[in-house]
Amino acid sequence: MSDGFASLSLSANLLEVVNELGYVTPTRIQVESIPVLLAGNDLVGQSKTGSGKTAAFALPILHQLDIDNRSLQALIICPTRELSAQVAREIRILGRKHPGLRVSELCGGQPVKPQVSALERGVHIVVGTPGRLLDHVSRDTIHTDAIRTVVLDEADRMLDMGFGADVEKLLRAVPKSRQTVLFSATFPPGIEAISKRYQRDAIRITIAEEESEGEGISQLKLQAEGNDKVLALFSVLHKYPHNSAIVFCNFKKTVVELLRELNRAGVSADRLDGDLDQYHRDQVLARFRNHSVNVLIATDVAGRGLDVEELDLVINYEFPQQPETYLHRIGRTGRAGRQGLAISFVSKRDNSRLESIEELTGVPIKTLPWAQSDYPDFDKLAKAIACEAPMVTILISGGRKDKVRAGDILGALTGDAGQLKGADIGKIEIRDRLSYVAVTRSKGKRAAESLNAGRIKGKRFRASLVS
Ligand code: ADP
Ligand code: MG
Repeated sequence: MSDGFASLSLSANLLEVVNELGYVTPTRIQVESIPVLLAGNDLVGQSKTGSGKTAAFALPILHQLDIDNRSLQALIICPTRELSAQVAREIRILGRKHPGLRVSELCGGQPVKPQVSALERGVHIVVGTPGRLLDHVSRDTIHTDAIRTVVLDEADRMLDMGFGADVEKLLRAVPKSRQTVLFSATFPPGIEAISKRYQRDAIRITIAEEESEGEGISQLKLQAEGNDKVLALFSVLHKYPHNSAIVFCNFKKTVVELLRELNRAGVSADRLDGDLDQYHRDQVLARFRNHSVNVLIATDVAGRGLDVEELDLVINYEFPQQPETYLHRIGRTGRAGRQGLAISFVSKRDNSRLESIEELTGVPIKTLPWAQSDYPDFDKLAKAIACEAPMVTILISGGRKDKVRAGDILGALTGDAGQLKGADIGKIEIRDRLSYVAVTRSKGKRAAESLNAGRIKGKRFRASLVS
């Protein structure tokens, strides 16, 4: 199982408290979220009720708190007074070795005056409901400039209760440089919109229900080592037809080497690792999601925020060190009731790790018989797996902030100038200042030309094929 809290690089006093509370192992959402939050990233976390989401955000907040500075450093927005009280209570408990810690609850239906005087004396953390929080912001009784972290707890419920507009106003009132954390049991489009608008490079962590863990995913392992591994990869790609596959590696170096091998074989592949800047990472993901790339070779860091539907094959080219990482990797496939396949390349050294994973999931990982001698002709195999992705991606130099919408792009491509059929147009993704649209590969060049020559919403934008 997990390594316990000690592996999460939390300060000694927090570890002591956690220990005193009898928390032996962090829950899965805690294992996944705490490092991400300590690193300062934005996060969208999803897991069922009772899975310990409060501590998942409270511990990193407390860890980073400057107790000597009595200004507001974290703001936690909750849908109800009861929840605010629970969260505040848990923060006070977890923070009991932070002498002088001040946590305030600011909820509607309570007198404002005592809240104001508490704020005047100075507080480190505020927990409250949207309406009342906004009230304080507009009265200027809350000073937002030192806020480092904003948490939307039970974000889906807040939207259900009609707090969307208030929450957005609050998010606009706090410093842009803050960390924004969203916890939710479900992920409706409203949450997605808030995430897009107010988060930066948010990492998405979804913990599936225990019962459904691994469901819909066939897990196989294959013994291959050293030079045989590339051959094994090619044979797996050949044997298991896929539209979208991810090959996970532990090291960037391996990512680069594999990409070279796959490109040489003519496989539509690209890489996703920590060396890519946000712009290129976004572009690679957009191309992968819209089927302009069939195989993605990724490290875990890069693969974390990955949100790809219809992924049908995950390959662990290098076996992960942690069981959680394994679950995280294979959880990328078999989503939304689809059948997924996860194949792990293992050596004898990985046996104990395999066992702990089988224990964790309660599902044995079957062995895929494989022998190097079954594939006498490497070049022939390489030729057999060569294929182009069905789509190409056009990058358009206008996005949401230019008032470009998916319908406008669709209109431009299918109109007189573009003359494409609807069936030739794939996924359209709109960003702030740019957009991606997928079109059938053979139509790509003409489509880009027509977009360049024409207008979208009466304006000219640059359009270019990206690869
Ligand atoms: P959620 O927000 O997911 O509904 P909570 O944060 O309210 O879950 O946590 C549910 C309960 O689990 C709380 O009583 C909390 O104290 C307890 N808890 C949290 N983390 C752990 C842990 N690592 N080990 C044991 N109990 C925990
Ligand atoms: Mg909760």
